[in-house]
Amino acid sequence: MPEMPEVEIIRRGLAEKLQGKQIVNVEVFLPRLIKWPGADDFKAMVIGRQITGVERRGKYLLLPLDNGNTLVFHLRMTGRLLYVTPEMAQDVYKKIIFHLADGDFLLYADTRTLGTVYALQPGEAWRIAGLNNLGPEPLAPDFTAAYLQSVLGKSRSKIKSFLLNQKHISGLGNIYADEALAEAAIHPQRVAAELDAVEIQRLYVAINKVIKEGISDGGTTFRDYRNSTGGRGHHQEHLRVYGRRGEPCLTCKTPIEKIEVGGRGTHFCPKCQLLEGKGKCM
Ligand SMILES: [Zn+2]
Repeated sequence: MPEMPEVEIIRRGLAEKLQGKQIVNVEVFLPRLIKWPGADDFKAMVIGRQITGVERRGKYLLLPLDNGNTLVFHLRMTGRLLYVTPEMAQDVYKKIIFHLADGDFLLYADTRTLGTVYALQPGEAWRIAGLNNLGPEPLAPDFTAAYLQSVLGKSRSKIKSFLLNQKHISGLGNIYADEALAEAAIHPQRVAAELDAVEIQRLYVAINKVIKEGISDGGTTFRDYRNSTGGRGHHQEHLRVYGRRGEPCLTCKTPIEKIEVGGRGTHFCPKCQLLEGKGKCM
């Protein structure tokens, strides 16, 4: 968390406010969050520059600057990127403050400080392995059923682990992977290459559907996710399986189970999502 829908909500909120704003100063309270370059060089690359847009690739947020450099944020577990005016309270976990020319602030806050921040020059995307190797993302034109079929066919991973690998599909995390598999009625421990064409088509539709729902609900908030103004999402009220262990399946009323797949907690309906395949009672 946050996953693609949450990062997209943050992007949309920030885009309205940051476009064209000039950064006049940067305060760094925890230099180790900046993975490239060092904190002093980071400031030199950013101070005095104008923010020309707010973009997203997978779960990365990108702020292109008018000198061709790009600010990159990955929020990981608990990072927050907040637009704050002088009269608003500042997040107590603030780690980096970008002072804007109009007196407002862009705040990077992080309770567990696992997030990562970069300033890159043109052509330096290779410095972030995860950004350089992102697969197509849900709802994008290059994410097609044919693409999904071709990458699934080469993978002996369990399907849950396959979906979390950002090289295959970018933007899915633990919540939306479980939700997509529930929607598609596919057991999370199935082997990727063993899904049949009907299941792959169901999975393709399901991935796009759960991501779209997450965005339209303003994202999913369990603990830490906040949008760019500190608000919560509502998608946690509409989840099929994630976080619902022991609660009835929305389709068949069987209690939802939680297991570990590839070290990640995984929620599924044991009746709708059969390990031997052919599950589909929704
Ligand atoms: Zn069920």
